[in-house]
Amino acid sequence: MMRYDLHLHTNISRCASMRMTPETILKIAKRKGLDGIAPLDHNTIKGSLRVAKSNKDKDFEVITANEVKTQYGDVIIYYINEDPPSNDLFELLDFAKEIDAVVSIAHPFRFMPHLHFNYPIRKIANKIHAVECLNSRTLPFENKKAVRIADELNLAKTAGSDAHFPFEIGRGYAVFYDDFRTAVKKRKISVGGNSLAYLPGNFLTFIKRRLQIQI
Ligand SMILES: [Zn+2]
Ligand SMILES: [Zn+2]
Repeated sequence: MMRYDLHLHTNISRCASMRMTPETILKIAKRKGLDGIAPLDHNTIKGSLRVAKSNKDKDFEVITANEVKTQYGDVIIYYINEDPPSNDLFELLDFAKEIDAVVSIAHPFRFMPHLHFNYPIRKIANKIHAVECLNSRTLPFENKKAVRIADELNLAKTAGSDAHFPFEIGRGYAVFYDDFRTAVKKRKISVGGNSLAYLPGNFLTFIKRRLQIQI
């Protein structure tokens, strides 16, 4: 059985802590008993590649990923080694297909209008593979909605902490057998963890943005 945190930010993200270095991320992820992670940042794979490069442990997997801000909301592309040529949702989905990436819609039902996914998922269900069904910075009822749509459209489920600070790593995770790609294909992934990181995590990000301080 594998347990992966499939959504955590690195210190490349301006909204994340400067302490989210590759070394710290790997150390804490392993300490929390994870078998793998997908580090990512918005619109760049720089941080993700750095973490992958720092990982020397054959028993621990780093999946390179990118959380792309499209015109309709955040889309996570897994198994990506170069930045996508466009942030347009449809061009991004075409690109993802070309490079055989796995696509998941991040936190689709966050209630804040600028943070949820504003395009009907059913209309792109044949072009994506998964929906993020547990995001630890998203409220439980918003995550439940994501579970419902994934089940309804027969899409795989992904999960992650959306960590911006080291203490959040591993709070949300996906559980599967085989490898992640196979598990996505078989739609055999369950999600675990909690949304209790929501308050302290989001509060710290708010403070950080507001005061422009390094924490
Ligand atoms: Zn996001
Ligand atoms: Zn994120």
